[in-house]
Amino acid sequence: MTDETLFTKIINGAIPCDTVYEDEHTFAFRDINPGAPVHVLVVPKKPIARLTDAEPADAELLGRLLLTANKVAQMEGIAESGFRCVVNTNQDAGQTVWHLHVHVLGGRALQWPPG
Ligand code: AMP
Repeated sequence: MTDETLFTKIINGAIPCDTVYEDEHTFAFRDINPGAPVHVLVVPKKPIARLTDAEPADAELLGRLLLTANKVAQMEGIAESGFRCVVNTNQDAGQTVWHLHVHVLGGRALQWPPG
């Protein structure tokens, strides 16, 4: 039995992924079931389960997640056309993986509000 999250296994290389970007604190990889031409997940290496578990001490890390999302958007060529960052949190939002992640979606016109 392990308490490693799915995304920790991806970060550690135990589960393969299509890596887009990595630095000391964050990791970005393509979503296995993309909802847009560009769909990248940005995760903290520290396994915070969900946004509601983030604490004031995580403020810098939360900022780093958005900076990495911006970097990914630049790298993927969607920064100027536009992109969306989504943090699904708990049941009603449809969170399925209990390791905080920012979806970075773009490459087409996105509908608002989402369904
Ligand atoms: P959420 O529903 O916000 O928790 O998002 C979890 C996301 O993780 C979904 O969009 C899944 O498609 C994605 N996902 C699940 N397993 C993998 C995997 N092995 N590699 C890449 N993305 C994954």
